[in-house]
Amino acid sequence: MDSILEVCHLKKYYHSKKKEMMALKDISFSVYPGEILSIVGPSGCGKSTILSILCGLLSSSSGRVEYPVNIKIAYMLQEDCLLPFKTVLDNCLLGLQITHSLTDESKKYVIHLLNTYGLGDVLHHYPSQLSGGMRQRCALIRTLALKPDILLLDEATSALDYQSSLIISNDIYKIIKKEKKTAIIVTHDIPLAISLSDRIIVLSKHPATVKSTYSISFDSSMTPVERRSNPIFTSYYEKIWRDLDVTI
Ligand code: ADP
Repeated sequence: MDSILEVCHLKKYYHSKKKEMMALKDISFSVYPGEILSIVGPSGCGKSTILSILCGLLSSSSGRVEYPVNIKIAYMLQEDCLLPFKTVLDNCLLGLQITHSLTDESKKYVIHLLNTYGLGDVLHHYPSQLSGGMRQRCALIRTLALKPDILLLDEATSALDYQSSLIISNDIYKIIKKEKKTAIIVTHDIPLAISLSDRIIVLSKHPATVKSTYSISFDSSMTPVERRSNPIFTSYYEKIWRDLDVTI
């Protein structure tokens, strides 16, 4: 299968007045249509830097990111960043408004997503009236409203308590697969990555290189929560944990 995105030998330095700091040493990987790819690595190793380069917020110091010309990439940040003075619906329409692509049809699509994914009853509520999980789902639908080809998710569940994080990871998985999106998820949470992904890339400590890649194969009917209680879950966990080489 042809890849939808190729990352070739990315290197990134951050500069301050006094020094230069290498954040990424050598990062290469491919992303295939329809897959959920997770990038895991210790805190501070350069995961968010990779996402920022992929969506064009940062430029790399060297190396290339290659993807088809018409591809749309959307970035969902760690915090849900919902505007407190706008309703759920208006928050989800914001990207369309900013990009001048709000039409009757695109609004209908957003309302359809909100109805399908359990927010139909709270269209006119404000973010403060929602649970953490609902807020995160709302942020995901706001991202999907622009019909991106690739979704970038940065620690999408880390602001939530454990139970909400399990529930929203099920939702994220269901939505991404049902809407046939490609997703790149950055996380330090190995169980989350195993429960959601088709493939996992493990990064070294800072400055980051790709240390190993795992194809994750579970029965496609399994939900992320069901994956967690499957015996092979632990074997993936042990391998990835060993690769992370974290000193306790
Ligand atoms: P991760 O997402 O894996 O936690 P980051 O990509 O946020 O890691 O950061 C990688 C390294 O680059 C860290 O050491 C961090 O302190 C540093 N860094 C990140 N952003 C900047 C910046 N704007 N200026 C200088 N250093 C930065």
